[in-house]
Amino acid sequence: MKSYIIKTFGCQMNEHDSEILAGMLEAKGYRPTEDTGTADLVLLNTCCIRATAENKVFSYLGRLKSRKRSNPAMIIGVCGCMPQQEGMGARLRQLFPYVDMIFGTHNVQQLPIFIDRILAERKPVLEILTEPDEIMEGLPAARKEGLRAWVTITHGCDNYCTYCIVPYVRGRERSREPDDIIKEMLGLAGDGFKEIVLLGQNVNSYGKDFKKPLDFAGLLKKLDGVSGIERIRYMTSHPRDFNEELIRTIARLGKVCEHFHLPVQSGSSRILEKMHRGYNREHYLRLVEKIRQYIPAATITTDIMVGFPGEDDGDFRATMDLIREVRFDSSYTFVYNARPGTPAAGMTEQVPDEIKKQRIQDLIKLQNTISMEKNEEEEGSQQEVLVEGESNIGPGLLYGKSRGNKTVVFAGDKTLTGSTAHVTITRAHLAYLEGLLIKQ
Ligand code: SAM
Ligand code: SF4
Repeated sequence: MKSYIIKTFGCQMNEHDSEILAGMLEAKGYRPTEDTGTADLVLLNTCCIRATAENKVFSYLGRLKSRKRSNPAMIIGVCGCMPQQEGMGARLRQLFPYVDMIFGTHNVQQLPIFIDRILAERKPVLEILTEPDEIMEGLPAARKEGLRAWVTITHGCDNYCTYCIVPYVRGRERSREPDDIIKEMLGLAGDGFKEIVLLGQNVNSYGKDFKKPLDFAGLLKKLDGVSGIERIRYMTSHPRDFNEELIRTIARLGKVCEHFHLPVQSGSSRILEKMHRGYNREHYLRLVEKIRQYIPAATITTDIMVGFPGEDDGDFRATMDLIREVRFDSSYTFVYNARPGTPAAGMTEQVPDEIKKQRIQDLIKLQNTISMEKNEEEEGSQQEVLVEGESNIGPGLLYGKSRGNKTVVFAGDKTLTGSTAHVTITRAHLAYLEGLLIKQ
């Protein structure tokens, strides 16, 4: 039997695409391996959100050169966001002539055809579609074992934030039909999955491309009724499209968890405007207030960027003040990186690296202090934990996530795996909460 490795770079979207690529390979008779020395196929599913992500791909491909020399039959492929950038497919071809296939984000489903072609003709494949086709349904996905499964609800992005390359490499926004989503969720429930994470670059603009009146709140109402699924999460929400009606719906629905990942990017309205985010600081703070009004125990997390062109000390102070005011449970923090072809890359006033470095350090320090305090606030509370298995923190310990998406570790029997445990939080750590199982 032939073997494959898929190396994934980037976000959950890419991770989930890799599950589909793996599903197609397994349907073709390939089995997974970890050993690049013996693999028949090595596929790199790439990311281009920052230069560091691309550099990792370049160096991985460099390392594969000697493998290919000792095993010329091995098929090497590069797919995903990187080749989808203008001119990048040809550049990869030129830099790494031993790569057998290069394709983008819009023709993932052609992987089996490309492999057959390479095996029959031994000629390299370079095929990148500039426009997405209609959404492909029914592709097999080889998901990782566990309780949590990703389900895409929207593809692409129409927002064109001025720093971001995603709309150029993922195409226009397309929503999946609710019936297709429900069918997939029912299948996942049948396979033993308990928690679904709905994926999209901007999940709450779901349905804008439909003729029928169905929005994200309406979709959540439908999905909350899918039997066998116990929890529903979603990534990522856009503050511009988040409204009070959606917050009220989330507060009401039993399966939709009380965790809001709302990327703010900056606390300065001036910078938010330059980023083309479509909201200002006041709108964001009002949203947070509404979330806490309807769901006082909600956890709120965010993405924040420092060093966007023109960000001065005052703008950065506004970001730090916003962090203090909102008190996020945690944040993904980013240093702005110019992406070729995006409007921000051509803006004057790029922020010097030393300043970016100092700002990110200050920001992480502040966020860590707040994250620890927020975790301490949970001490004494009772949490519902969906138990995922044995923790590697110590023997006899289990771990799982609270509804607020925090990792909870507690002593218990591993037969609890897959069930919901009630746990009293006894001690906070920066990365997780320690607790005591409440006997039922
Ligand atoms: N669609 C999501 C949203 O709008 O919040 C974000 C998806 S993006 C893959 C994840 C994060 O990467 C963004 O929230 C942003 O903070 C960061 N990011 C995007 N472009 C970037 C760039 N050019 N430099 C640094 N960080 C960037
Ligand atoms: Fe990028 Fe903005 Fe789209 Fe998010 S919403 S993927 S940051 S363009």
